Amino acid sequence: MAASIQHTLKTVFGFHDFRPPQQEVIERVLAGEDVFLVMPTGGGKSLCYQIPALHRDGVAIVVSPLIALMKDQMDALIANGVRAACLNSSLSAAEAGRVFQQLDKGTLDLLYVAPERLLMPEFLERLGTLKLALFAIDEAHCISQWGHDFRPEYTQLGRLRPLFPGVPIVAMTATADPETRKDILGQLGLPNATVFVAGFDRPNITYTVIPKQKPLAQLGAFLRNRRDEAGIVYALSRKRVDQVAKQLQAAGFSAAAYHAGLPDDQRRRVQEAFQRDDIRIVVATVAFGMGIDKPNVRFVVHYDMPKSVESYYQETGRAGRDGLPSEALMLFGMGDVMTARKLIENSDNAERVRIEIQKLNAMVAYGEALTCRRRALLSYFGDQRDHDCGNCDICTDPPQRFDATVQAQKALSCVYRTGERFGMMHLIEVLRGSKNQRVLDLKHDKLSTWGIGADTPATQWENIIRQLIHLGYLTQDFTRFGALSLSSAARPVLKGETTVTLGMPRNTVETVERTRKR
Ligand code: ADP
Ligand code: ZN
Repeated sequence: MAASIQHTLKTVFGFHDFRPPQQEVIERVLAGEDVFLVMPTGGGKSLCYQIPALHRDGVAIVVSPLIALMKDQMDALIANGVRAACLNSSLSAAEAGRVFQQLDKGTLDLLYVAPERLLMPEFLERLGTLKLALFAIDEAHCISQWGHDFRPEYTQLGRLRPLFPGVPIVAMTATADPETRKDILGQLGLPNATVFVAGFDRPNITYTVIPKQKPLAQLGAFLRNRRDEAGIVYALSRKRVDQVAKQLQAAGFSAAAYHAGLPDDQRRRVQEAFQRDDIRIVVATVAFGMGIDKPNVRFVVHYDMPKSVESYYQETGRAGRDGLPSEALMLFGMGDVMTARKLIENSDNAERVRIEIQKLNAMVAYGEALTCRRRALLSYFGDQRDHDCGNCDICTDPPQRFDATVQAQKALSCVYRTGERFGMMHLIEVLRGSKNQRVLDLKHDKLSTWGIGADTPATQWENIIRQLIHLGYLTQDFTRFGALSLSSAARPVLKGETTVTLGMPRNTVETVERTRKR
């Protein structure tokens, strides 16, 4: 090899050091291996195929869905003296002809193409006659219905692997949830690709989740302790946004509402005022945030639970872009989970329902986690850490543990007695000795487990049962309305052979105050 990749990094791109894991990715590609690279936007994915493109013989073919991005990338490369071109529908026939000439003469290092162009039979045929350095597939999540930007033309990219067996493929995305990842690798036919996940950690953000009880009071307590700081409060519906904004204003906070139902000019005014620090708090639906680039957002509050961990990560990620300590607070309530579930189940598309429910479940699991939040979050994205972060509510204020063996036995045997066919709410009714119509109709008031949990409040039962699900004693079947059944781990508990330790539910407003004082 003529020059080292370090040399190319310096002389062509003007950088002194690789970011992790750029070097290792590049080395794999140079060795002819397939790679799947999951990094947030701005993480530095491009170098991972651009440097190999310069070090391997032949032209590198880069698939990219957006013409504007393609052009930016190409211009930047040309400015660095790299021989790059692109082929897309915006070119005239003459311009495209020139690109073909360059291709045939072998005078290109990189060619950006739109997927529909790449997959045209004549074009694939032409590629077959050329020496190819690699394929890079940008925005690879577009191949998956699990992702947020499904593009049917991407699904054909699975043909590349069998058509060009010797050419390494670098697939890249910033979308990292486990299902999408698995789907991308499967559809592209890259079972042996080395997967790299990096750059997702935001160490300056403190993650906190509190049970949602009196949300307005909880929010107020949080905001009062942050008199001069700017932040975003996310809520799920426009109505809720308007309500919360009004109530905050009435309580004397500098707050404004933002959602897609407001007139354009009003939305723009709010955004600009927030940007200039004239408004301190924006209460918003997810519509807010796309265009804003405000470095000093000190906190992001989720008044309602987001519908997926990806949304949560993206929204909390708007805090602390300046690298200074920032906070992410989520109010987490089972009511929200039920509402979200109902909304999802309204859809007729069974596959969509399955996808959304699974995403929601992951979000719920995060909210309920009694382990380091950052580890839970990063591990969801495929970035496993072996240390707790020390900068989340669980780390700084570990939940008290209590021996819940007896309550677990009661709950598990109630699941058993009712035939493993009922959801949490019904089980709690039975445990608490309710005489509601459904309990009576089912004759569940005749069971030995009816009323054995009357001494424990319903909210606490919810908490206990949730943790039993989370810890794997109970399995929840969402294709059967969340019916709970016993898993194998439940038997030793029921037989009294093992004990169950659970986390104590936290006390809300107090928790907020406590995290602040530290
Ligand atoms: P992505 O494709 O992951 O969104 P890019 O490849 O566009 O990210 O890189 C984002 C920014 O980081 C660019 O401005 C790029 O020049 C810069 N960058 C990438 N790698 C390095 C590096 N090793 N050292 C310094 N800057 C880098
Ligand atoms: Zn932690």
